[in-house]
Amino acid sequence: MARAQRILLVGGGHSHVEVLRRFALRPDPQVALTLVSPEPETAYSGMLPGLVAGLYTRAEAHIALPPLARWAGARFLTDRVEALDLHEKTAAMADGMREPFDFVSLDVGSAPDDRVAGARAHAIAVKPVAAFLAAWERMQMDAAGGTVRTIAVVGGGAAGVEVLLAMHARLAAALGAGAPRFALITDQPHVLPGHPPAVRARIGRILVARGVVLHFDSPAVAVEPGAVVVAHGRRIAADRIVWAVAAAAQPWLAASGLACDARGFVRVDEALRSPSHPFVFAAGDCATQAQHPRPKSGVFAVRQGPPLAGNLRRVARGAPTTAYIPQRRALALITTGGRHAIASWGPFVAQGPWVWRWKDRIDRRFMAKYVPPAGAGSAPAPLSPDREQSR
Ligand SMILES: Cc1cc2nc3c(=O)[nH]c(=O)nc-3n(C[C@H](O)[C@H](O)[C@H](O)COP(=O)(O)OP(=O)(O)OC[C@H]3O[C@@H](n4cnc5c(N)ncnc54)[C@H](O)[C@@H]3O)c2cc1C
Repeated sequence: MARAQRILLVGGGHSHVEVLRRFALRPDPQVALTLVSPEPETAYSGMLPGLVAGLYTRAEAHIALPPLARWAGARFLTDRVEALDLHEKTAAMADGMREPFDFVSLDVGSAPDDRVAGARAHAIAVKPVAAFLAAWERMQMDAAGGTVRTIAVVGGGAAGVEVLLAMHARLAAALGAGAPRFALITDQPHVLPGHPPAVRARIGRILVARGVVLHFDSPAVAVEPGAVVVAHGRRIAADRIVWAVAAAAQPWLAASGLACDARGFVRVDEALRSPSHPFVFAAGDCATQAQHPRPKSGVFAVRQGPPLAGNLRRVARGAPTTAYIPQRRALALITTGGRHAIASWGPFVAQGPWVWRWKDRIDRRFMAKYVPPAGAGSAPAPLSPDREQSR
């Protein structure tokens, strides 16, 4: 029998957790999987606002990666990929090691574009999630101590709005009238671009009812300690600035020589495969399906998991890949702080506690899939025991 093909999964994002689950359910002796992740857990985006609002525990909103990898018979490396050598077929890790592969699959997500002057130094980005959650813990303590009186969120998409409403709900519950005041800053003329006017209007009314000061048509041009500078030099003061603008790609993706779109996201075809390097696959936020571009959203990343798993299995056996065409529109369930949510699907809009309960059921069912059954999985044989120990 031919040697097993080494498939390196970079990042434990929404697509790769499903790849692991599928290999766990149907192991393949032709495939030797390795997962690289800087953290032993990955946040589920659907429950992130609920975690910030205090409705979920950290464990409820995260998938534990080492047990999932073990279940799939995969090696797990705690590290961060910083470059790919596409000639040598190796990935360079933050710890200086190189990991060889036959095929590599990228699912490393995205982070808010922080190229605005001062954003990196003076604002708190909503991604990476671990850093944001640590900053959120400190923010709550500072708000309770009275040193944080105002919080500005920059970015009026679903992530910005949901995080703002979640932070507001948590602080209002804890501090009552002493809770900080919030501002929302966006370069758009309204919140939630891409959603129908009825959804925007409902969210707008909720924001106004919670006393949020809305700054529309106000692109942030700089961030200073204690202020966001928007177009025309206007300064919006805030004790903490949360950065939730449009997603940007990690620079090493394009720097590796992979074909990328204009924003640096990896271009992939209908098989989720790089047109420039057919041994490279990519999914989730870090990829753009050139023929079928879709918003950077967890829903699409989740949907790419099954076709990605299928195609990795096929290429490992030298079989042809199959095409995956993403759905045109996805159901968005937008949370509004407490146990209340708005459903947005095409022109259809609904809201209420029942929408939140519906979303809660969907999310909990999703998370349960990634908890291996008791006793499942055996430790895979490390390729090099020395390297395993060094991580
Ligand atoms: C506050 C907030 C709320 C959101 N709510 C929703 C929602 O309700 N519904 C929705 O559909 N979308 C939502 N989104 C968007 C959603 O988070 C993303 O679209 C989704 O996470 C993309 O999934 P992914 O698999 O591409 O990447 P991610 O889920 O971000 O996973 C990437 C993984 O790769 C790891 N990684 C990163 N860099 C490296 C590296 N160099 N080497 C190795 N590993 C690496 C990370 O640690 C992470 O575990 C929200 C986003 C935010 C910020």
